[in-house]
Amino acid sequence: MPRPIEALIHTGALAHNLARARAAAPDAKVWAVVKANAYGHGIERAFAGLRGADGFALLDLAEAERIRALGWRGPVLLLEGCFEARDLELCSRLNLWHVVHRDAQIDWLAQHKTHQPHRVFLKLNSGMNRLGFAPAACRAAWARLDALPQVAEVSLMTHFADADGARGIAHQVAAFADATRDLPGERSLANSAATLRHAQAAGVAADWVRAGIMSYGSAPDYPEHDLAHWGLRPAMTLRAQLIAVQPLQAGDTVGYGSSFRADAPMRIGIVACGYADGYPRHAASGTPVLVDGVRTRTVGRVSMDMLAVDLTPLPQAQPGSEVTLWGVAGNGAVLAIDEVAHAAGTIGYEPMCALAARVPVRVVD
Ligand SMILES: *Cc1c(COP(=O)(O)O)cnc(C)c1O
Repeated sequence: MPRPIEALIHTGALAHNLARARAAAPDAKVWAVVKANAYGHGIERAFAGLRGADGFALLDLAEAERIRALGWRGPVLLLEGCFEARDLELCSRLNLWHVVHRDAQIDWLAQHKTHQPHRVFLKLNSGMNRLGFAPAACRAAWARLDALPQVAEVSLMTHFADADGARGIAHQVAAFADATRDLPGERSLANSAATLRHAQAAGVAADWVRAGIMSYGSAPDYPEHDLAHWGLRPAMTLRAQLIAVQPLQAGDTVGYGSSFRADAPMRIGIVACGYADGYPRHAASGTPVLVDGVRTRTVGRVSMDMLAVDLTPLPQAQPGSEVTLWGVAGNGAVLAIDEVAHAAGTIGYEPMCALAARVPVRVVD
C-alpha cells in the first residue's frame, strides 16, 4: 500500500468560503486569489470550488494559462503585472487583465502591438511600500495609460499592510482616496482581512475584493479571531495514519535531540508525516493534532518523514489509526491550520502553500 498520508481538498468548503466573502462585501465583485497554485491546493482543484467567483487573480503567467485551459473565460488578473515586455503577448492572446505598478510597464504597453486593448489595474502605493506608484505619481501614470490605444480601461488598486492588525487601514484608505480623487474607474482595495474586518468602512469593499486566504479556510487575523468566528471551513485536510505505537517509561525521550522526556509512563504514536510532507518542522512539541478525531498533541521534534503524538487520551489508538494534522477528521472534528501554524511561529498561509508534491491529493465535496 502507498505510504498512508494524503491531502483532501474540500470543494464544498471553497464554495462556502467564497460565499462568506460575498456576504461580507455584498455589493462587490470577488476576485478569487489563486496565486501560488491556489495557496497549495492546486489551481485545477480549487477551480472546482471557486468557479462562482467573478474573476481569478494570480501572479504567474503559466497559472493564468491553466485557468484559461479550464475553460474560464471571465476576468483573470495578474497581480504583479508583466515582468517583461513580451509577457504582453500572452496578455493579449489570453485576454488577461494586468496590474501596472511602475513606469516600465507603461513603456512596454506603449510599444505593444495588439488589436485588443487591455484592461489594466493601476496600483497605488498607499503605504505598504512594496509595489505601486507613489501618490504624487499616480495621476501622471493614470493619464499616460488613459491615452494609450493599447489600454481599454484603467482601474485602480492598492494593498493594505495592516488589515489584520491593530494599525488598521484608515491611513491607507485616506491616501488612496486622496491620490485617486475624481479619477474614473473601478477600484479594488481589500484582501481577506480587510473584507472580513473593514468592509463596512467607506470605500473599502469598493468594486472588487480580493479573497485569498479566507477562501481556503484560514482566519487572516488568527489568533484574534478563528475560523469559527468568521464562519469559514477548512478547504484542505492533511491526514495520515499511525504506523507504530511506542510505550514509554518515565525518563524515556522521543526523537532527534531527545527534546521530549516522559515524566511518567505513557504511549506515543508515530505518524507517517514529517517536514518533507510540508508539515512545519518548527511546530513545537505540544502542537495540537487529532487522532481518530480526538484532540491531542505532538511530542518531540518533527522529523523528515515522521512525527510523534501523545496517545494518553487515546487508549484504543493503534497502527492504522487516523491522524489529522490539520483540517477535518473523519468524525467531523476540525483542527484549523492556523493553530498548527501558530505553534510553529508562522501563519496558516505558509503550511498550506508548502504541501509537498509527494503527498497524494484527493478532491472531495
Ligand atoms: C495575495 C494577495 C491578496 C490576497 O491576500 P489574502 O490575505 O490571502 O486575502 C490580495 N491582493 C494582493 C495584491 C495579493 O498579492
